[in-house]
Amino acid sequence: MPLTANDPSRKSWLEVPQNSDFPIQNIPFGVFITKDDVVTIGTRIGNYAIDLGALQQLNYFEGIELTDDMFMQDTLNDFISDGKKTWRLVRNRIADIFDSNNPTLRDNAKHKEVVIFNLEDVEMQLPVLIGDYTDFYSSKEHATNVGKMFRDPENALLPNWLHIPVGYHGRSSTIVPSGIPVHRPNGQTLPPGETQPVFGPSKRVDFELEMGFITTDANIMGEPIPVGEAEEHIFGMVLFNDWSARDIQKWEYVPLGPFLAKNFASSMSPWIVTLDALEPFRTESPEQNPEPLDYLKQEGKHAFDIKLQVALQPEGGEENVISNSNFKYMYWSMAQQLAHHTVNGCRVNSGDLMGSGTISGPTPDSFGSMLELTWGGQNPIKLSDGTERKFINDGDTVIMRGYCQNNEVRIGFGEVSSKLLPPFTKK
Ligand code: CA
Repeated sequence: MPLTANDPSRKSWLEVPQNSDFPIQNIPFGVFITKDDVVTIGTRIGNYAIDLGALQQLNYFEGIELTDDMFMQDTLNDFISDGKKTWRLVRNRIADIFDSNNPTLRDNAKHKEVVIFNLEDVEMQLPVLIGDYTDFYSSKEHATNVGKMFRDPENALLPNWLHIPVGYHGRSSTIVPSGIPVHRPNGQTLPPGETQPVFGPSKRVDFELEMGFITTDANIMGEPIPVGEAEEHIFGMVLFNDWSARDIQKWEYVPLGPFLAKNFASSMSPWIVTLDALEPFRTESPEQNPEPLDYLKQEGKHAFDIKLQVALQPEGGEENVISNSNFKYMYWSMAQQLAHHTVNGCRVNSGDLMGSGTISGPTPDSFGSMLELTWGGQNPIKLSDGTERKFINDGDTVIMRGYCQNNEVRIGFGEVSSKLLPPFTKK
């Protein structure tokens, strides 16, 4: 089925600011609450939120097989479950409805009033009910940096790393949308030079620059997803800040891996950008050497050129850009991650979230965590207000942005922004 929604020459009758992440070629999916407290599934063009539930009630999706209340739900899980054909039909139709040459909605003031909202008048929600959340560890640069710091500089990568897309099962219960503040976690740590652990607020709260992908119900229990089919089951992507407490992590992670250092919060951008919208930005993955086992072997372009940036904003201060990276640096592709995840028959459901793992580039200014940017706190970052950071302070806001751009179109993710608060206290 053609991807007519991606036509770069198409213009919308809705105003789209220059350099917007959300031209008519994007058409992401999200969930929002209107001023009247109505929850609905929507899309975004420019700085307008579009109520797909209202569009459906007004028959704008006529001819596409959808359940009657498909878009009047508080999650995208059912829509995602309908599969790629439906996603494409709906995206193509939305592009058509908002095309500058189509007068049907453009010239219908009554309909527009119930369909189109200013972005500032809606509140974005988590777009999916995340059943399961898996976090990978697929940036070679990141794994090497962490291995050097936490283990052995000479053998930074463990022997399995170049053969397996390493990952762990996280928790979905503390994944929040952009804008929701996060508390500094308490936990157990082993202070440097001590032999007995202590309990208290983490002193090394960090962000992890990641992207996440959302799956559809891809398989039944026992059924592996072949690597060549895996992308068919990926609905789209979000920006993802996988908050981490490095001191808790260091003490707890042996032998079973991350636990409480990671599950106190993860923040995601609210608009899911479809893999279809990202199609023009496919690029080569880094060379894989040694060659992966057969079930992970891939031909063609399966990386995506997505420019990523992290900014840190102190309370009341201005933003400081502290990292510029790119999703294309990932050693293992999303398809390889999903193929590996299911090769043992593990079931993947609609709305599951897979984190990429921290995305670090080859140069120090492209590292995706404070741990790496300050090299374990040894080289603090100077901010424009004269203060320094080894890790994240209470009151700091971490903002991640990402977009793709070619000569014709810019497709972006907006941002995931969240503030670190002091440890939780019961009021
Ligand atoms: Ca992570």
